[in-house]
Amino acid sequence: MIDLRSDTITRPVSGMLDAMMQAEIGDDVFGEDPTVNDLEEKIAKIFGKDSAVFCPSGTMTNQIALQVLTSPYEEVICYEGSHVYKYEGGGLAGNSGLSTKLLKGERGRLSLKEISTAINPDDPHFPKSSVISLENTVNKGGGSFYDLKDIHAIHDFARHHDLKMHLDGARIFNALVETGDDPRDYGKCFDTISVCLSKGLGAPVGSVLLCDKTLEKSVRRARKVFGGGMRQAGFLAAAGIYALDNHVDRLVEDHVRARHLGAKLIDRPWVKNVYPVDTNIVIFEVDEEFTAIEVLNILAEKGIQGVVFGPREIRWVTHLDYTDDMMNKTIDIINSLDL
Ligand SMILES: *Cc1c(COP(=O)(O)O)cnc(C)c1O
Repeated sequence: MIDLRSDTITRPVSGMLDAMMQAEIGDDVFGEDPTVNDLEEKIAKIFGKDSAVFCPSGTMTNQIALQVLTSPYEEVICYEGSHVYKYEGGGLAGNSGLSTKLLKGERGRLSLKEISTAINPDDPHFPKSSVISLENTVNKGGGSFYDLKDIHAIHDFARHHDLKMHLDGARIFNALVETGDDPRDYGKCFDTISVCLSKGLGAPVGSVLLCDKTLEKSVRRARKVFGGGMRQAGFLAAAGIYALDNHVDRLVEDHVRARHLGAKLIDRPWVKNVYPVDTNIVIFEVDEEFTAIEVLNILAEKGIQGVVFGPREIRWVTHLDYTDDMMNKTIDIINSLDL
């Protein structure tokens, strides 16, 4: 089976497994796991933040961040298709008593103009606008990424209006390898940054929440409350360290393969449209006479898995375990489909 459902399906390579098996461990809830401490220090430094907190998932890091940056009844400004809103089970409302102001964005990227009209007036009718949450790259936007100068502009505006900034950087390294931006510039613009180690970076489990020293204690408290305090988590942190050392630069290979797939898909008569392919996500729309589910089933019979992304949209994600051989096979299969 060729699995293009997600970059979360990657399995640890042998070097990563060795690193995990050799990890020095301790009880991280007591702050005594040296490997977790090393991972946290290493990634905090990359982004120029004081602190990092290792968590089981990106959903948890997002939920913790938006809780510690807000109080109940306040409002989060975010993209209508953002992970924090759409794919976290309603956690913002349930965990933290927050409402959301949903913006359309341009392939999920919010503009300063759109954000500036989304802030509520200081009037007791309205929830207090409290935090701007951006996603980079944007999953629903087909892996689109921000221009750093737009983020700077949003950051200046946020400071001026006393708004906090959170980045859902589940795939931030996919953006960084394309732009060549300095991650420390992101560290300066955002109060909190969530980074997934378990997607294209190829670790089996884990995300990290970056923040300043002043927030670290509340982040660790929230992680405990959410049930995310792990014990001998050094085995997992070792995978994260290995991923940061070995799997960042190679993300460009995934992007090349994704672009290649996009270019081949657009020529197929059963494909109506392919979103621009900026990173490792390929979203395509099937022709009007089909539904996404029908085409997915046909592709699955031929050995290619993807996910439904709309009534006629399919998403493919390239990743560490998707090789050139698999890509060539994928192309042969789509070229031979007679629909
Ligand atoms: C995958 C993902 C997350 C986190 O997902 P988990 O499965 O909880 O680790 C967060 N944001 C985006 C945009 C994602 O794609």
